[in-house]
Amino acid sequence: MRHFAVVGSGPAGFYTAEALAKAYGESARIDIIDRYPVPYGLIRFGVAPDHQSLKAVSKRYDKVAETDGVGFIGNVAVGSDVSVDELMERYDAVILAIGAPHDRKLGIPGEDLPGVIGSAEFVGWYNGHPDFADLDPPLGGTHAAVIGNGNVALDCARILSKTRAEFEGSDIVGHALETLDRSAIKTITILGRRGPHQIAMTPKELGELGHLEAALPIVDLKDFPPVEADDALEPGQRKSVTILREFNSIRANKPKSMVFDFFAKPLAIEGDGRAERLIVERTELDEKGGARGTGETYEVPASLVISCIGYSTPPLGDVPYDQRGGKFLNESGKINDRLYCVGWARRGPTGTIGTNRPDGYEVAEAVAAAMPAGSSGDRGGGEALKALLAERGIRATNFTDWRRIERAEEAAARSGSPREKMVRVEHWLQTLGD
Ligand code: NAP
Repeated sequence: MRHFAVVGSGPAGFYTAEALAKAYGESARIDIIDRYPVPYGLIRFGVAPDHQSLKAVSKRYDKVAETDGVGFIGNVAVGSDVSVDELMERYDAVILAIGAPHDRKLGIPGEDLPGVIGSAEFVGWYNGHPDFADLDPPLGGTHAAVIGNGNVALDCARILSKTRAEFEGSDIVGHALETLDRSAIKTITILGRRGPHQIAMTPKELGELGHLEAALPIVDLKDFPPVEADDALEPGQRKSVTILREFNSIRANKPKSMVFDFFAKPLAIEGDGRAERLIVERTELDEKGGARGTGETYEVPASLVISCIGYSTPPLGDVPYDQRGGKFLNESGKINDRLYCVGWARRGPTGTIGTNRPDGYEVAEAVAAAMPAGSSGDRGGGEALKALLAERGIRATNFTDWRRIERAEEAAARSGSPREKMVRVEHWLQTLGD
């Protein structure tokens, strides 16, 4: 019998566990370990609450969790409750699928002022991530700025602009819905340091902005190259740019606006003890398609600034780490003998949920090639890990606990108005009644 530990229960972790279970059948046990008592990582805490169809993929992960030989060990933080080395002693291979939960820094003056938050914090707050339950983002001013031209920037801007009715059918947490409902924000400026042709936003997500109840997307056609230049774009990108251009022809009166400010590079965030404005430099494209400052600067008022410029994986003990890339140093997912990584921890924070499937399968194949079915000697796998955790007084959760917590959450959501989720680890553990 082989024993494998997959650390992290987001998409990358589940696809890897699925692939390992298929490759080894009954000759391996796979434990999916997570720092939280309940699984799903990005699906639970990252995917926007108004994008329920994307969250439906968790049904597939449920099936993986129900597979014989696959176990869930939750409420265990690898790095503090147990080290990677301790896992390596107990498992044949350890696969790190811890995602990229940290915000990249802007590296500009004023980014630590109150009122400036990273997208991981804001997204975590509206999705009920326990670390951000107390974030309380300042929504009392009339102007907000969202920095970045990726899909996360779109998520943040859209959530800021939606009305209470537009959250019907979502699973946004109650505290966020209440706070957003009282928001005074009227103008959301989305800053991109390059132009419309360089956006990292996808058509479906951009298209949603044209149908918002209370907010109007605004672009300035002067920022766009001649329309013929769109022909050179890859079809998906061309579609995105076409949607952006068409925002200019929407005629409607709406109380909120979402202003796309292209060629806009933030230089500093200023204010009297808290964020009040961004100092922005106008840019142009250089020969390599990068953003080059023109020296022209201007101000963008904003009492809330959300930076959506990408994420990084945190270093973990002595695991070799790529500082520049913000991920583990690896070759095709292999870090060291018996130590692997998958998903964003392997390749950085890019791609859709589905991108993690081939990624996880590729690494599982490499594991299977290096370690044919056989005996793991005296490595005790999950039982040995659980014994260590018990010695340390750590209340690990299992599949049954996770289901009980989920049922309690569903009951809370049904009885709560607005929809509510339990958002603290203590709440989750209390429902287990021990
Ligand atoms: P992203 O797609 O990499 O976009 C990051 C954006 O930040 C880019 O526009 C980048 O501009 C900008 N940026 C980076 N550093 C900057 C700086 N110092 N100053 C100003 N701007 C800066 O990352 P993301 O939006 O975090 O998304 C992560 C991944 O998740 C992506 O693959 C995304 O598609 C996916 N995602 C998908 C969905 C969905 O399908 N609904 C939703 C959310 C996220 P440059 O291009 O100039 O570097």
